[in-house]
Amino acid sequence: MKAIRKFTVRAVLPDALSALGELAANLRWSWHEPTRELFAHVAPEIWNRLGHDPIALLGEVGPERLEALAQDAAYVDAVNRQRDELRAYLSEPRWYQGLECEKPPAIGYFSPEFGIAAALPQYSGGLGILAGDHLKSASDLGVPIVAVGLFYRSGYFSQAIANDGWQLESYPVLDPDGLPLAVLRRPDGSAVQITLALPEGRTLHARVWQAAVGRVRLLLLDTDIPDNSDELRHVTDRLYGGAGEHRLQQELLLGIGGVRAVNAWSELTGRPAPEVFHTNEGHAGFLGVERIAALIGEGLTFAQALELVRAGTVFTTHTPVPAGIDRFELDVVERYLDTDLLPGVDAADVLALGREDGAHPKFNMAYMGLRLARTSNGVSRLHGEVSRAMFSGLWPGFDTDEVPITSITNGVHAPTWTDPRLQGLAWERLGSADTTAVDWLSPALSDAELWRVRGEMRAQLVADARERTASAWLGQNPGGRAPAWIDELLDPAVLTIGFARRVPTYKRLTLMLHDRDRLRSLLLHQERPVQLVIAGKSHPADDEGKRLIQELVQFAAEPEVRGRIVFLPDYDIAMAQTLYPGTDVWLNNPLRPLEACGTSGMKAALNGVLNLSILDGWWNEYFDGENGWAIPSADAATDGAERDRLEAEALYDLIEHQVAPRFYQRGDDGVPERWMQSVRHTLATLSPELSADRMVREYVERLYCPAAAAEAALSAGHAEAARALAAWKARVRAAWPTVSVEHVESGGVAEVAQVGDELHLRAHIGLGELSPDDVAVEVVYGRSTGGDELSDVERLELQADPTAGLDGAATRLFTGTVPLGRAGGFGYTVRVVPAHPLLSGAAEMGLVAVAE
Ligand SMILES: *Cc1c(COP(=O)(O)O)cnc(C)c1O
Repeated sequence: MKAIRKFTVRAVLPDALSALGELAANLRWSWHEPTRELFAHVAPEIWNRLGHDPIALLGEVGPERLEALAQDAAYVDAVNRQRDELRAYLSEPRWYQGLECEKPPAIGYFSPEFGIAAALPQYSGGLGILAGDHLKSASDLGVPIVAVGLFYRSGYFSQAIANDGWQLESYPVLDPDGLPLAVLRRPDGSAVQITLALPEGRTLHARVWQAAVGRVRLLLLDTDIPDNSDELRHVTDRLYGGAGEHRLQQELLLGIGGVRAVNAWSELTGRPAPEVFHTNEGHAGFLGVERIAALIGEGLTFAQALELVRAGTVFTTHTPVPAGIDRFELDVVERYLDTDLLPGVDAADVLALGREDGAHPKFNMAYMGLRLARTSNGVSRLHGEVSRAMFSGLWPGFDTDEVPITSITNGVHAPTWTDPRLQGLAWERLGSADTTAVDWLSPALSDAELWRVRGEMRAQLVADARERTASAWLGQNPGGRAPAWIDELLDPAVLTIGFARRVPTYKRLTLMLHDRDRLRSLLLHQERPVQLVIAGKSHPADDEGKRLIQELVQFAAEPEVRGRIVFLPDYDIAMAQTLYPGTDVWLNNPLRPLEACGTSGMKAALNGVLNLSILDGWWNEYFDGENGWAIPSADAATDGAERDRLEAEALYDLIEHQVAPRFYQRGDDGVPERWMQSVRHTLATLSPELSADRMVREYVERLYCPAAAAEAALSAGHAEAARALAAWKARVRAAWPTVSVEHVESGGVAEVAQVGDELHLRAHIGLGELSPDDVAVEVVYGRSTGGDELSDVERLELQADPTAGLDGAATRLFTGTVPLGRAGGFGYTVRVVPAHPLLSGAAEMGLVAVAE
């Protein structure tokens, strides 16, 4: 268990070393190897013991050591050089500054968690680490993000494993004074306070911590201050700690308080306020209603403000698991909105944004996210597809492919997740430490050298696993002596498979245990043994997950196999940074398609690790037959147990017949030539693709810039276009029941048409009070395979006939021609949808009229 850290920091540094303080104050050190080396040099033992934390290091190291360093001219020189390098990094133009598009001056990025460094434990897993990687790449690319989150007094929990294998949780309290954070203050020194009106006349107060993440500013709201009642001080006590009302309070604070904090920060610093807002998962969704409230304060109606806010909002959904979405009771949300929380906003309008109908209607944060954002996305191509299907109910009458949710596949921050050894090798042999840009196929780097470095990374993992296992054992058996077998745990020469992740059921932590005898024989194989390193936390409320961990831990404790399989407690960033590079193969076996993306396998790939995974998430689009192995999904299996059996057997077969033979097939020099071919191929092809730089560039070019342009178009003047669009939508919505496809005539083809024929369509459309300019009349056509469904669907707009149907006729005529381009069954239908230049697409309003 981690000791409670409490110390008064900002050790007084000798003047000559003041630059060291400047370097410690910006989290850029967490991904900048030369800066890390400077800190390590201060006191290597303390640096490692305190988990690479410059502020803790400087608080603990003795003044004599600092004085000695201050006398070391070469060291002082190196520190000053890195300080200058940091200043240049923070100010010089980067990729974004040279980009040509309608660039937002700032982007607000909201997330419930941020995983930036082990030294700032404000994350639980993938979502938070992705957010941290997003900020780091944004900083490297010069993207002007200001990020907003909450400061949790205990972060997530620390995990220990009892002797019987059961997960134990503890919540070490963090002292923000010991973290790289500073309170946001006014020039007179007083701390900025954010307030939120709560039911029963109460007020929630929060202070704002700032962290510097390279060029990016991160603001964290914290309710643990004396102005709050004891109860309200606990609002930000733990990440995902509470349910129901506690969680709602956290999310109101994050969204509403977060926007207020960004505005206060912008006013105080003179830095531009965000024009585009990005909400990482639905938890921060209330940011949109706060912005609506502000616009209502400037004289807009709710509907007008909604248009403006939607235009500049980007929503990323991260889960295809319905249970992963926050839902609140409608009456609880209503009680919080029926206050002065959002002046001028009618609670009913907000409730409608999140309303999920059903036997027990709920307030659904993902629904609100989708309705408040003009642009939404999933986090891999497959997840985009799954999300469009999952949320298609919000756009009834439209095909799934028209649901306005796109996808941007996640990436990981290469400098954070690539082992310094590999970066060093790239620098020495290939001319750059940027492992995503060098030529890994170049003959300047030999297989033997790369294999040697891979071996060093494996050996480093083995040493770390022994150390962690011994210290975990001592934690559970205080005063005892760690058993001798731990000294021989794992073997630095054996094929090492890693598996680490949170433990929701769909990730199937224990699939590998399906046939224990088979697993034993793989682990203990005479010529081609494998070893497994496993880690992961179960949510504290999830006893099923804890049971899975227990099952695994108990298996790993069997004397026969315990040297070849180990469960490492307390999976976190620090462990991950040694774990991924030290494995040869990264295993992932979720139930397809429930893994939205998965990023641990990406981090492994950046280190030359081959993936062995179900074709889910990112692997579904990047597996190419050479960079690893695909575990076939038994989608057709009749039940879950059968599916597990089939997929587990496929996994064992792959390890036994493909993975292990390739790894152990050695040349005379001991190098596995065929294996290294795959390693190099992985490094060369996947590194650039999986990098968070690629992801952030996509967000900027595909989502942020268009959002800024849409926002600018709608807000010009006194939001003239937003007012007009809201009025137009209201008119179209009111008139829509009078819109109908009355009658469609076709001509030009005989009963049996031939390829090359043309289908001439004349559609008589009832428009009621609308004009032809308000709508698009489309023919939707495609391959018909019987039944009502069409496949390979295409759409073509029909044109209003300027002459026919005027003079008070009940319908207007629209005509067009469809080429019959391919043989086979053909089907079509005609539909009417609203059309306006400022709509994002046909489905935006969810209105459609089709031929009966
Ligand atoms: C990357 C990472 C995760 C997320 O991994 P997934 O593959 O998305 O499950 C979780 N925890 C830590 C510590 C990580 O580094």
